[in-house]
Amino acid sequence: MMQIMALQVLIYYLCKTKTIQFYKMETTKTNTPRERKLKGKVVIDIQKCKGCELCRTACKEDALILSESLNNKGYRYIIANNDLCTGCVNCALVCPDAVITVYRTGAKKKKIEITPGELKEGKNIISSIIAELK
Ligand code: SF4
Ligand code: SF4
Repeated sequence: MMQIMALQVLIYYLCKTKTIQFYKMETTKTNTPRERKLKGKVVIDIQKCKGCELCRTACKEDALILSESLNNKGYRYIIANNDLCTGCVNCALVCPDAVITVYRTGAKKKKIEITPGELKEGKNIISSIIAELK
């Protein structure tokens, strides 16, 4: 009995952390922002930027914008929103002046807490699945 309960808790935990998914759970998909495995940090040498916007065109995440102010050379320069950056490096590859450096980091894993109510609900789901399989 204890082993079955432990198995139920393990399966529920794996479902909760999306390590495994049952077909029934796929119907509850929502339009949440897509999770990124990699996160990027873009550093731009703004004094060397000419504001040509090639990098901006290459960025699929819309993470780059043109500044309102001017740099020492009199150009508007690029500013990065690192919250949107995936570290794909497209911007750095297209920049003719090589003023962009991209650093990649892994996205932080969210800590998942399971309340006693959710645990009970999970056990009920697993029990009904096991009953259907019999
Ligand atoms: S690394 Fe990729 S996602 Fe990040 S700013 Fe550059 S082009 Fe955009
Ligand atoms: S491609 Fe390079 S020079 Fe052109 S706007 Fe982007 S950072 Fe500036």
